Amino acid sequence: MSHVEPRPPARQREIEAQALAVVPPCPSWCALPTGHPYDSTASHDPSDHLRLHLSEPDSAVREVYGRVEAEESNRLGEVHVDPATVAIYDDHPRDLTAHEARLYAGALVEAADLLGRIKAS
Ligand SMILES: [Zn+2]
Repeated sequence: MSHVEPRPPARQREIEAQALAVVPPCPSWCALPTGHPYDSTASHDPSDHLRLHLSEPDSAVREVYGRVEAEESNRLGEVHVDPATVAIYDDHPRDLTAHEARLYAGALVEAADLLGRIKAS
């Protein structure tokens, strides 16, 4: 006897499809392609679709970099964008040399300046 996952009611699937058909515009500082899609696998709740707005795409990888990020959720057409924050990235946590510490400081200041301009606009 096989187990079949219950499918959401047709009306629910229709509402989700309509909600995701129109992707709201990104914040002006988002560097990703216009209309970048939601990811239905990013949330535990399958009807909650998420996407991340980024001031720099993942392809812009440097040794250490900071960027502004904001998560957007779309739950059955109800869109919410979290306040933007600064995120800093590195390959892995480690003790820092003076050079690396300066890279961190510079990356954080650069991202903080961008976030400050975003909040002021
Ligand atoms: Zn975006």
